[in-house]
Amino acid sequence: MNAAEPRPPFAGVPGFAQLGPRFFTRLAPTPLPSPRLVSVSASAAGLLGWDADAATQRSFIETFAGNHVPEWADPLASVYSGHQFGVWAGQLGDGRAIRLAEARTASGPWEIQLKGAGMTPYSRMADGRAVLRSSIREYLCSEAMQALGVPTTRALCIIGSDAPVRRETIETASVVTRLAPSFIRFGHFEHFAAREDLGSLRQLADFVIDRFMPECRDDKQPYQALLREVALRTADLMARWQAVGFCHGVMNTDNMSILGLTIDYGPFGFLDAFDANHICNHSDSQGRYAYSQQPQVAFWNLHCLAQALMPLWREGDGKADAETGKAATDAAVEAARAALDPFRERYGAAFFQQYRDKLGLRPTGGPDADDEPLLTDLFQLMHAQRVDYTLFWRNLARISCADGSQDAPVRDLFLDRAAWDAWAEAYRARLRAENSVDAVRAVAMLAVNPKYVLRNHLAETAIQRARENDFSEVDRLLAVLSRPFDEQPEAEGYAALPPDWAAGLEVSCSS
Ligand code: AMP
Ligand code: MG
Repeated sequence: MNAAEPRPPFAGVPGFAQLGPRFFTRLAPTPLPSPRLVSVSASAAGLLGWDADAATQRSFIETFAGNHVPEWADPLASVYSGHQFGVWAGQLGDGRAIRLAEARTASGPWEIQLKGAGMTPYSRMADGRAVLRSSIREYLCSEAMQALGVPTTRALCIIGSDAPVRRETIETASVVTRLAPSFIRFGHFEHFAAREDLGSLRQLADFVIDRFMPECRDDKQPYQALLREVALRTADLMARWQAVGFCHGVMNTDNMSILGLTIDYGPFGFLDAFDANHICNHSDSQGRYAYSQQPQVAFWNLHCLAQALMPLWREGDGKADAETGKAATDAAVEAARAALDPFRERYGAAFFQQYRDKLGLRPTGGPDADDEPLLTDLFQLMHAQRVDYTLFWRNLARISCADGSQDAPVRDLFLDRAAWDAWAEAYRARLRAENSVDAVRAVAMLAVNPKYVLRNHLAETAIQRARENDFSEVDRLLAVLSRPFDEQPEAEGYAALPPDWAAGLEVSCSS
């Protein structure tokens, strides 16, 4: 080993690789010609015990371009299946992602995965590559979500190249290195269930339980406990997405993390003007994955996961249960339902908690039904007035609960000022009822309502510059988005309303 070669701590633990060949194919990444560093996240590098300087080494660039396979790596592509846009899509898999290795760190295991590192047995008709545009979007959003406190896979770096890649136009290939405790998706379970490979299904469930959810082992029914845990994590994640105004865009079951992380950033978007039915993915003509649909779709996806896991507790199928007299199949379905059931309540509670925090209302220890009309009215008003979502919440932090004298920055976001005045009066009354103190509430609200999110036009500007080999805007944006709740006077423009040209931006599944 080259002494200067970056080496993740304790890399070489088998991790996912211990599952065996039914789960993956070992293969080396395809080299990327003329690789160069586009950007490195110091924060993500820190997870592996490195600082950003590590990325100045040639061996770092060669490793994360996929050109050099270090001795600590055990590269492999995993197989999964899934439902895409509501339809069973059969076998998919890491078509362009290659897991390099797994690091064991003080903060737990981190899988190190190259995305865009060439064809795999699961590439189907595609080229195994990722374009610079989509790599920049995934990289920036992963790190932005982390800073926003939303569970997510992380992004270590982007390596760019001149290698041409055909999409709607010719673009260039790049590789983004992602980090996550695990990249296992709902689709991994669906894969083995569809093949009726009960042994592998059980092995996978055991792996997830033992490594990530050991408390499920104490349950009488560990696999049902696993399903319940995933449902709860997913409910929490959906509440976070909704609160921060994040639209994923492709919530297929192969893009759903078993750990409840945001995964596979493609045609995602943050709400600018609030539209409850906003569709961020230009390819999603039906609006299946519209903003307002996300929690419901997550629940639908959880049903697919439940269907996949059910064979693990359906043994003895056909025989009637001695105590209840019910057919075992009915009992298995009921057990699955019972495991999924807590999703609704958890989502509702998490959603209310998020929005109560965003409104600066003191926690009352549970969903407070009295606040529901206030929130419903607000959503209707924001929707009707197409109020900028991020600016609204940020500016709301600075109003006074005594009167409307400080309202201007938020009031000016509404065309119908009288409608704002009416809602604001109800909100103020609610604040006064709990003796809210303006200065105290403002501090709390500014800590949960971000000033900076990755609006499409910000990403687009960074992408355009990067196409001209100027990567400084990617770094600048990364720095701004890594402190989304802080006032950054030098970055005021990054918090402004989108420019007119942003209305014409379209993002699709093409990446
Ligand atoms: P997505 O919805 O973008 O996460 O991808 C769906 C499936 O298509 C996954 O199995 C990906 O690995 C695969 N895929 C997407 N783009 C490519 C590509 N350019 N080359 C190979 N496989 C791809
Ligand atoms: Mg995917």
